[in-house]
Amino acid sequence: MLGRTPLSAAIRALRAELEGGSRADLGREVRELAELLYRRERREFAPDRDPVEQELLSAFPDAAALVSKEGWVRVSNAAFDTLAATGRAHGLTPLEITRSADLSDAVKRALEGTPRRLDLTLGRHVYLVHIAPLLRGEVLLLMRDVTDARRAEATRRDFVANASHELRTPIAAIRAAAETLLAGAVDDPKTAREFVDIVARHAERLSRLTQDLLDLSRIESRQLRIETTVLDAAPIGRQVVELLAPSAKEKGLALASDIPDGTRIRADARALEQVLVNLVENGIKYTLQGGVTLSAALDGGSAVLTVSDTGPGIDRHHLPRIFERFYRVDPGRAREFGGTGLGLAIVKHLVLAMGGDVGVESGPSGTRFEVRLLAS
Ligand code: ADP
Repeated sequence: MLGRTPLSAAIRALRAELEGGSRADLGREVRELAELLYRRERREFAPDRDPVEQELLSAFPDAAALVSKEGWVRVSNAAFDTLAATGRAHGLTPLEITRSADLSDAVKRALEGTPRRLDLTLGRHVYLVHIAPLLRGEVLLLMRDVTDARRAEATRRDFVANASHELRTPIAAIRAAAETLLAGAVDDPKTAREFVDIVARHAERLSRLTQDLLDLSRIESRQLRIETTVLDAAPIGRQVVELLAPSAKEKGLALASDIPDGTRIRADARALEQVLVNLVENGIKYTLQGGVTLSAALDGGSAVLTVSDTGPGIDRHHLPRIFERFYRVDPGRAREFGGTGLGLAIVKHLVLAMGGDVGVESGPSGTRFEVRLLAS
C-alpha cells in the first residue's frame, strides 16, 4: 500500500504504469484526490441552469432540487442551497450535501423509477422529503422543514396526556368517596361529613383545573381579546391586594401594594389583574412567613411590576421551566396547596399577548417575579 507515500511518488508510479510498467497501487488519499478533482470538474462543467426550471423551483416554498440521471443536483432553489455547507448545491450529490445515506438510497431508488417519501433529521431540523421520478429520468427532490410542526404536535400530545392525568386524580377521589357514601357511610353523620368534604374539595379542584384550562385555551386561540390601553397600575395593584387579603391573613402573611399612583403602563386591565392575581396567589401559597409585596419601577421605556415574596425560593435549575404548563417544582406539595400547575403558563401567555415579558429571580430569602410592560 502507498499509505503515506508523498504525492510525487504516486504520480511517478502512475506514470510508470502508463508507460508499460507494473500496475500502480494508489493509496486511499490519492484515490480521494482523484474523486475530488472529478467532482470539481463536474461542477465547473455542469450545464447551466435552465432559467424556466430555476424559476419553477424558486416558486416552491420548500427546499427543492432537480437531481440529474447521474445523481447530482442540476437545478436547486435558494432554500435547497442553504442545505449545502458551501451554500451552493449545484453539482453535488444529495449524499455530499446532507451526509444522509437514507436520502442517498431513496434518491437512487427514485432514479430507478420508484417515488419515495421519508422523514429526515439533519442536525436539529426534521424534514419531510418527497422524491418523485420525472419522465426524462431525473428526480424532483422536495424537502419541507417540519421541525416546528413536529414540536407543536409533541407539545399538544404532552398537554393532552398531562391534562387527562390531572383530571383523573380528583375524578377518582370523588368517585371513591361517592361509592363509600352509597355503600352505607351516608347513614353515619360523622363519616358522611368526612366523605362529602372530600367530594367538595376535589370538585373545587376540578373546577379550578377546568377554569385554568379554558383560560389558557382562550388566550392561545385568541378568543380572549387582549387590547392594551394606557392605564394606571396602582388601582389594579390595590384591587388585587383587596381580593387576596383574606387568604394572606388566614396564613398570617403581610400583603401590600407599593405601586405608586400614576404608574402609567400599556396593558389590558383584566389581563393585568389576572397576571398579578396569579403571581400574588403563588406568593401566598408558597410563603410560610413574612409576606408578599407588589411594587413598580420605571426602566427606560418600560414599567416593571414586581411581585416579591419571602418564601422558600425556587431552586435555580427549575427556573427556566416553571412557566411551562403543568411544571411543578414539588408536584405533591403544589397540589396540596391547590395548585393546578397552569398559573404561571397563563401569566406568561397574558404578558406576551400584552407585548411584554415576564422573568423570575429567586434565592433562599424569596422569589421575585418581574412583569415588564411598555410604560406610557
Ligand atoms: P401551581 O398551580 O402549581 O402553583 P404555577 O404554574 O403557578 O403552578 O407554578 C409552577 C410551580 O412554580 C409551582 O408548582 C411552584 O413549584 C413554583 N412556584 C411558583 N411561584 C412560586 C413562588 N412564589 N415561590 C415558590 N415557588 C413558586
